Amino acid sequence: MVKLIYIVVFGALIWLGLLQIRRYLKYRKGGDGLDAATTLASRIVPCAHCGVHIPEADAISHRGQFFCCKKHRQLEQG
Ligand SMILES: [Zn+2]
Repeated sequence: MVKLIYIVVFGALIWLGLLQIRRYLKYRKGGDGLDAATTLASRIVPCAHCGVHIPEADAISHRGQFFCCKKHRQLEQG
């Protein structure tokens, strides 16, 4: 039974590894925008106003700074 769990976990790890490699290769080739967005989603950035951490893909970037929402971007700009 324990052996079966090892096989399943090992298989899942290989599968995830292959997915990452495939995604990376596609991204390097300049793949489509969707994959680039998925890669960005893995990066977490803090909001320049309130400091809450959000995925870069969901963040609003302005002049090299990131914000969690439009309201905070406006508040920071004055
Ligand atoms: Zn914020």
